[in-house]
Amino acid sequence: MSQNPCIICVAITGSVPQKADNPAVPITVSEQVESTHEAFEAGASICHAHVRNDDGSPSSDPEKFARLKEGLETHCPGMILQFSTGGRSGAGKERGGHLPLSPDMASLSVGSNNFPSRVYENPPDLVDWLAQEMLTYDVKPEIEAFDLSHIHQAAAMFAKGKIAQTPYVQFVMGVKNAMPVDRETFDFYIQTMARLLPESPWCAAGIGAGQLTINEWAVAAGGHARCGLEDNVRLDKTTLAPSNAALVTRVVDICAKHDRTVASTAEARKILGLRPAA
Ligand SMILES: [Zn+2]
Repeated sequence: MSQNPCIICVAITGSVPQKADNPAVPITVSEQVESTHEAFEAGASICHAHVRNDDGSPSSDPEKFARLKEGLETHCPGMILQFSTGGRSGAGKERGGHLPLSPDMASLSVGSNNFPSRVYENPPDLVDWLAQEMLTYDVKPEIEAFDLSHIHQAAAMFAKGKIAQTPYVQFVMGVKNAMPVDRETFDFYIQTMARLLPESPWCAAGIGAGQLTINEWAVAAGGHARCGLEDNVRLDKTTLAPSNAALVTRVVDICAKHDRTVASTAEARKILGLRPAA
């Protein structure tokens, strides 16, 4: 085992990309299970998931999340399941309707910011309610840092006991109208983590063409990496990614270049302080 294995998270579906953008985007639960299984075999240890209606529109249906969980537990044993609480901005508590299923993890946005064509609303009372539900159902949050203030907010919530264990923080860069893919900011995020949350591991996600850049930066800097069709549907300007697994393989190659092993699901669970696999 290397000193610092890299956890690869695959964000399989999201709430935005459609088959028209890339036919490999998995929409139905069975497509999601198949796509995740390929990504799992390629080296992903976390599956970040949203669910969709059959017409491709975003859904918060806990029953769909339950079917996805069952399928992934069967086909990807040990894989860490992370459900999104972010995809239905404006939907209020519906966003946490799947938390009673006790997925290993769930994403948690702790502040608001702009998205490409709207405000991504995360009012303090909703953030606190989602965090409390995660404590109740033993779900580890992954804090989505769309902004520097979100790292400070994670540290403040941890200090008040609103987040159990050490927070796992993800830097998100390259969302239009939010934080761009900016090297100096990225380095400052890392410094801020070391100062405010020195025990916490961190990961990073880049949107669109920024995915590859952020994967490179995160792996080289000792962090963990997120990829997948939710954030980016292309391998390069002219080539669509054939699958989620293809984007995972790209991160595996980056890890090799930087002498890092890819975390197994057991290693990832240890690093994140998660319960053993169901
Ligand atoms: Zn997501």
